[in-house]
Amino acid sequence: MLLRLRSPLSGPDLDRFQGLARERGYDVHVLDRRGLLVELVRASGRTPLGEPGDRVAFEDLACVAAVLDSADAPERHERTPERADTVVRVGAAAFGGAQVALIAGPCAVEEEGLLIEIARAVRAAGATVLRGGAYKPRTSPYSFQGLGARGLEFLARARAETGLAIVTEVLDPRDVERVAAVADLLQVGARSMTNGALLSEVAASRKPVLLKRGVAATVREFLLAAEHVLARGNERVILCERGVRGFDKVTRNILDVGTVAHLKRVTHLPVIVDPSHAAGRRELVLPLAKAGLAAGADGLMVEVHPRPAEARSDAAQAVSPADFAEIARHARELVRLDGRRLALPAADGHVAPTPVPEHRP
Ligand code: PEP
Ligand code: MN
Repeated sequence: MLLRLRSPLSGPDLDRFQGLARERGYDVHVLDRRGLLVELVRASGRTPLGEPGDRVAFEDLACVAAVLDSADAPERHERTPERADTVVRVGAAAFGGAQVALIAGPCAVEEEGLLIEIARAVRAAGATVLRGGAYKPRTSPYSFQGLGARGLEFLARARAETGLAIVTEVLDPRDVERVAAVADLLQVGARSMTNGALLSEVAASRKPVLLKRGVAATVREFLLAAEHVLARGNERVILCERGVRGFDKVTRNILDVGTVAHLKRVTHLPVIVDPSHAAGRRELVLPLAKAGLAAGADGLMVEVHPRPAEARSDAAQAVSPADFAEIARHARELVRLDGRRLALPAADGHVAPTPVPEHRP
């Protein structure tokens, strides 16, 4: 049910409105900056016109100008004239609006010392978020599947050592709580984009979510996957274009820069580019990173390893810390051209320690 208000709610009007909404089982979502368009949603989903009794009860409130049809409400991801760009802050990083940030790290968490070495190197080069998979979605069941809970412990230590925020993938709705205990940003991978149970759990965690586009997902499907998280009240979603499946094997995937530019026009959500999984080959990571930022991406996520050829997963696309520093240098220059800013690592590198999860094999 969508309501147009006479003026933004405050004082006794606000109390009466919220009391009535609570009593009738609705959550209140303010849809515009002025606070005049409000949607009432039930946990069970949208009830476009509201139940007849509810409609009348809200129509009777002095502050309500009109009860509209929710089907006319914009979807939550939609860019509307009133809605400012969503800026998602993760530690020292901010994505969206005029803010651009770099995420870097290994494909998979391998060893603790190695992870900390990578974290220090990418931080020195300008990354503000460390990536690294503890739970790895692998195409083959015989490939390295990640260190699981032990990998999370290593990520927590890397965070405490370097002050970098952590993004790591969660594959299973049952793991969301333990991954969210360490991660500052929860990654939902390309293979999981349509996993509704996982999207519900990450929404409920209240952590920001990095949602990767499925390898064959249309833009509409991608945005509706984000809508699953937004509709459950978690508004901190970052979209990630990581290449879609093509017919040619020269690149691992096709980086859809056209869609990056399109997304920036149709959604207020930040959009980042993962040039590593798109390229599949390290020599193409820099040009694709540049293409992504030039198309308007609000950040990059790059796979980095000090000895790229030895990476336990995705070795062919891993770049060295020196190559990443070059990408960061280009990123700084490119975003300056269109009046944006690249987030820098916090000066002292200090963060509040995250509890290190207990290791249960
Ligand atoms: C990753 O980023 O580690 C990953 C597995 O990527 P994707 O889900 O895009 O394949
Ligand atoms: Mn990878």
